[in-house]
Amino acid sequence: MIVLKSAEELSVMREAGRITAATLRRVGEAVRPGVTTGELDELAETFIRGEGAVPAFKGYHGFPGTLCTSVDGEVVHGIPGARRLLEGQILSVDCGAIVEGYYGDSAMTFPVGAVAADARRLMDVTRDSLHAGIAKCIPGMRLHDISAAVQSVAEAAGFAVVREYVGHGIGRSMHEDPQVPNYGRAGTGPTLKAGMVFAIEPMINAGGAAVRSLDDGWTVVTEDGGLSAHFEHTVAVTDDGPMILTLE
Ligand code: MG
Ligand code: MG
Repeated sequence: MIVLKSAEELSVMREAGRITAATLRRVGEAVRPGVTTGELDELAETFIRGEGAVPAFKGYHGFPGTLCTSVDGEVVHGIPGARRLLEGQILSVDCGAIVEGYYGDSAMTFPVGAVAADARRLMDVTRDSLHAGIAKCIPGMRLHDISAAVQSVAEAAGFAVVREYVGHGIGRSMHEDPQVPNYGRAGTGPTLKAGMVFAIEPMINAGGAAVRSLDDGWTVVTEDGGLSAHFEHTVAVTDDGPMILTLE
């Protein structure tokens, strides 16, 4: 069942989203060669708690971090720690915050120093695919209009869409119905209504689509070792069009 949110609920989710976005901006400003992913995680947790919010990921199914930090061929769910970032890498950071029981969820991929043109292009295309999906968050559209829009942008650029991990409804839980795949057929799926809220989150690979999990039980990597990028926003369907909740 897809839970519709009231205007009052959306305003609380907007605050959770604002804090999530502000955290990601601060983390992005701290990304540089030599910093550890653990230092970024500490910065994020301190900021979120200082805003009176709660890190959404810490302890979620036992996840140890406030952030997921995924480097280069890591797709999602990388565990922050002692790893030191190197010039030319790309770092995907996923972050969530809880305010009054409501969740915000957003992700971005950052360059570490100067990166190669192909890495830059992968990040740009992944961000563009997210915004193509967001543009479909209008009452009367169908859920897989979002999916198809994301997929077409990614594949037109020659990149591959990860199948095993998808976006999701979000509200009083981080993961609610429905699943929001980053691939699918336009004109299918549930009809969108004002008050639906989705975390749309394309994970796009430079090489093949296949992924696997590492022995740490969390980190998902590309099977072929190619780069992967991840951008995510929490977005409400409203009568005035798409409303991105995870903005400052
Ligand atoms: Mg996320
Ligand atoms: Mg998510």
